[in-house]
Amino acid sequence: MKLKTSFFYTMREDNKEEESTSGNLLVRSGMIKKVGTGIYTYLPLGYRVVQKIEKIIREEMNKTGAQELTMPSLLPEDVYVASGRRDIFGSDMFALKDRMNRNYVLGPTHEELFVAVAKEKIKSYKDMPFNLYQMANKYRDEPRPRYGLIRVREFIMKDAYSFDTDLEGLDVSYHKMYHTYQAIFDRLGIAYRIVTADTGAMGGLLSEEFQAITDIGEDTLVLCPHCDYASNIEVSQCVTSERPKEALLPLKKVHTPNHGTIAQITSYLNVSEKQVVKTLIYQAGQQYYACMVPGDRDVNETKVKKLLNVNEIILAAPEDVKKITTSEVGFAGPIGLQIPIIIDEDILQMYNYVVGANETDYHYINVNTKDFTYKIVGDIKNVKEQDACPKCNQPLIFKKGIEIGNTFKLGTKYSEALSLLYSDENNQLKPVQMGSYGIGIGRIIAALVEQNHDEYGICFPMMVAPYQVAIVEINENAFATELYNQLSQKGVEVILDDRDVRPGVKFNDMDLIGIPIRITVGKKIENGFVEVKIRKTQETVDVKTEEIVSYIEELIEKM
Ligand SMILES: [Zn+2]
Repeated sequence: MKLKTSFFYTMREDNKEEESTSGNLLVRSGMIKKVGTGIYTYLPLGYRVVQKIEKIIREEMNKTGAQELTMPSLLPEDVYVASGRRDIFGSDMFALKDRMNRNYVLGPTHEELFVAVAKEKIKSYKDMPFNLYQMANKYRDEPRPRYGLIRVREFIMKDAYSFDTDLEGLDVSYHKMYHTYQAIFDRLGIAYRIVTADTGAMGGLLSEEFQAITDIGEDTLVLCPHCDYASNIEVSQCVTSERPKEALLPLKKVHTPNHGTIAQITSYLNVSEKQVVKTLIYQAGQQYYACMVPGDRDVNETKVKKLLNVNEIILAAPEDVKKITTSEVGFAGPIGLQIPIIIDEDILQMYNYVVGANETDYHYINVNTKDFTYKIVGDIKNVKEQDACPKCNQPLIFKKGIEIGNTFKLGTKYSEALSLLYSDENNQLKPVQMGSYGIGIGRIIAALVEQNHDEYGICFPMMVAPYQVAIVEINENAFATELYNQLSQKGVEVILDDRDVRPGVKFNDMDLIGIPIRITVGKKIENGFVEVKIRKTQETVDVKTEEIVSYIEELIEKM
C-alpha cells in the first residue's frame, strides 16, 4: 500500500469518548470508527486485522474437518420461541417487525438455526459426527456497551456446532474444539487462561471460557497459583472452613441511629465485618427473596439464580425494600421478614452476629439461626482473594479477563426442545448430543491491543499486524519504491509512506498503527545503508541496501 494514494488517516489526540486503551488506540490509528453506541465500522487497516484473525481461525477449524457455511442474521422470532430462548434473552435481543407486521429478531447466537440445518441430514446414527461453523455478525442489545470493541451490540463471531450420537462422541468433539481453540489463541500470541464458567443463557452440561488476561477485563478470574484450578468468579466455589462453636448470648435490639451500611455499623458497634450478616432483597419475576451473606462478602447472583432455577434476578428497588422491611434501606434483617430467606452456608457456623432489625435506626445483636426461619441454605457468596483453593487448599489469586472464546457442552438441551432425533442401531429414536463453540473476533483485536501497546501506540504481533513492514521515505528516493516493489514481489505485506509530510509525522503514524518492522530510507542511503527498527523493542540496526530484502525475509520468519 502506497500511503499517498490510499485511504489512511490517524488522529494525534486521544479520543475522549473511548474509555479503554484499545478503543482509543484503534480509533486514533484509523482502524475502526464509531457509528453509534456499541457499533463500529472496520476501516481498511482494521479490516485487514480482522481478515488475518479469520484466516487463522478458518485454517485451524478446517484442519479438524469442520465445514464453514453462512447464515442470515435476520431471523423469524418463532425460531427462538420454539427453543424457549426468546424469553431467556428478553430485552438483550434486538426485535423488529416486517411490513406484514410479522416478528423478527437479529440473531444473538445460532443454535436453533444449526439444529434446523442438521435435521436435513440426520436420520440415523450413521449420519454423525459432524461440525459446522460460520463467521457472521451477531447482535445483542447490551445494557452497557463500552470499552471499544470489548462490549458492543453488533460483533463478528465465529460460532461452531458439533453433532454426535452419544456423550462419548460429544466428549471427543468437545476436546477437539478445545485443543483447536488453544492452537488458535497460541498462534495469535494472546496471553489467556481457560476457566470454568456459568452455562447461562446457553444452558447445557459444561461451559469453559478462554479469557485474555488484561486489567480492563470485565470478568474476574479466580486462579490457583499452585494447581490448575481456574474459574470465573460467577461459578467459583467457596470452601467453608470450620469455625469454633460459641455459647449463644441473649438476642437484643439496639439503637443504631443513621448507621445503615456495613462500614458504619461495624465502627459504631465496634465489631468486625465477619460478625455482621448482610441481608439483601432480590427480585426474581414477581417474587422477592432475602439473601443473607457474611458482612465481608458479596452475594453471587449467578449462584442465587442457579439455586432458584431462574433466568434473572435483580436487586429490589429501594421503594420495594422499604415496603418489605418496613424501614429505610440499610436496616433489612431476617427476623420477622415475610419473604423467603436464602442463607449462605457459612452463616450456619456463625454465632451472636449483628443483623438489621427491619426498623429504621435499629439492629439486632447476638443473633443466631434459631432466631429466624430460612428456606434455603447454599453457597451464595463470592470467593475472595486468598480464600482456599477448592482443589488444593492454597490461597487463590484474582485476575481480570476479556472473554474471547467459549466452549459449551450443550448435551440434548436443543435437540430435545427442537426434536433433533436420530434412530440408533435398534431403531430407537434418540436426541442428538450437541456442542457449541464461539470466538469473538473484535474482542481478540481489543485484547491484543490491550496486551501489546506502549506510549507510542499499538505493537501488533507479526501474525495479525495489518502490514508486516513499513518503509518510511525521507525525501523522495527511488530506492524506497524499488524496495517496496521487491518486498511486495516476495509476498511481504508492506506499506510505503510516500506522503508529503514531515518525517516525524511518518514515524509517529507507523508507531501508532503498530507495524512490527520499519525501514527508513534516509540520509544513510548515500553510503548504501537503510535503518531497520523493530517496533516492539525499539531496537535499530543499519543494513546494506543489497542485503535488505533477505534480511527482512529472515526477520519476519523469526518474529
Ligand atoms: Zn489449587
